Amino acid sequence: MEIGLCPGAERGSEFVLDPGSLVDPNKRRFLHAAGMLMAGLLLPRAGAEQESHAAAGSGHKVVVVVIGGVRRDETFSPDGMVNIPHLATDLLPQSLFYRHARNEGVTAHFNAISSILTGNWQRVDDWGKVAPTTPTLFEQFRKGLRVDRSNTWFVASNKALTSLIGASSDSNYGPAYGANVVFPKQLMLQAVVEALRLGRTANMADRSKVEAELESAMEGSNYEGLGWSVFDASDQLDPRVRATIQSAIAGFVRSGGPTSGDELTFFMTREIMRKFIPQVLAVAFSDVEAAHFGSYSLHTSGIKTADRLTYQLWQEIQANPDYRGKTTMVILPEFGRDPDGSSTNGFFNHRANVDSTRDTWMMTLGAAVDRPQVIERSIRHVDLCPTLTRLLGCPLLDAQGKMLPEFRG
Ligand SMILES: [Zn+2]
Repeated sequence: MEIGLCPGAERGSEFVLDPGSLVDPNKRRFLHAAGMLMAGLLLPRAGAEQESHAAAGSGHKVVVVVIGGVRRDETFSPDGMVNIPHLATDLLPQSLFYRHARNEGVTAHFNAISSILTGNWQRVDDWGKVAPTTPTLFEQFRKGLRVDRSNTWFVASNKALTSLIGASSDSNYGPAYGANVVFPKQLMLQAVVEALRLGRTANMADRSKVEAELESAMEGSNYEGLGWSVFDASDQLDPRVRATIQSAIAGFVRSGGPTSGDELTFFMTREIMRKFIPQVLAVAFSDVEAAHFGSYSLHTSGIKTADRLTYQLWQEIQANPDYRGKTTMVILPEFGRDPDGSSTNGFFNHRANVDSTRDTWMMTLGAAVDRPQVIERSIRHVDLCPTLTRLLGCPLLDAQGKMLPEFRG
């Protein structure tokens, strides 16, 4: 692959990283309300935010956060620590930290995340046109313990993923046991694309018309255009959420400028946690993939964003009584990036067969941590799925990955 064609490149996105968005109150309000909007869209009926369900299996909850491709040089190294103050200072001392977690499969996003979620090295289409071939954690959990779909969610910023990430092609499992999969960033992209297509770009700067554009994009596509896979997608927007999003979007449009896809993914994730209380939740951040454009500063800004949002997610787990004390959160990059001086343009890409690209790290927080410790032994990305399967109390399947003994079951 050539530069810029790598899966996960953010080319064409209106919502690339903008560190300025962190201090713009209009954008903050927009993102918050957008998260509420999309969670509201998914409510099967008004009042469903009160929904709760008994935990299945062990009752353990797991949250897996993948943060794109980042090298050790920019993260857990003496020079990289500056990019990850929360991971390195706030979270490391309470974590079970694997210093070497290896991707020994394909170092492209869909395959890498599929491998993490299935416990087997996947070698399907890099752009997610083909489902993983062995059951995902979502399917194992749902089929093994007869769990409802609302209990499993995957929320992602990464454009190299598709809704096929939520279920495998295994004939004994498959979409009937898959997760809800949502790509929050696509909601706004769809609205912009539609406005452009129909020559209504002026509407995007008009307070009263932006609402109509967004609703048109959502309802016109019946969600399919968003690439989502969601149960019982209601065509009626919860009116309480509608009022909030309308004012927030207007503020966002007036403020102008891009904002971060990962920020939107975070707010969406938090709303899903509060409304659906999923027991198995996966989140894919991807602002770091601005590296494909060759901007080192945008890449490191993306790392700082992932560091902050991951910490905020952990704070939400600590503050939310449905999660506190019964949740294990695992944070890992999908892979590293190519080394400086390589023939593949260094940090731009992630396709060199070297340690800089394959050797990453993994942090575990919460209920499965018996005591904080750093493990020097190398583990593999495929070891995570069977380890989490056991935590959840699911029947174990044969897999290439092996359970990690340091996790407390
Ligand atoms: Zn990438």
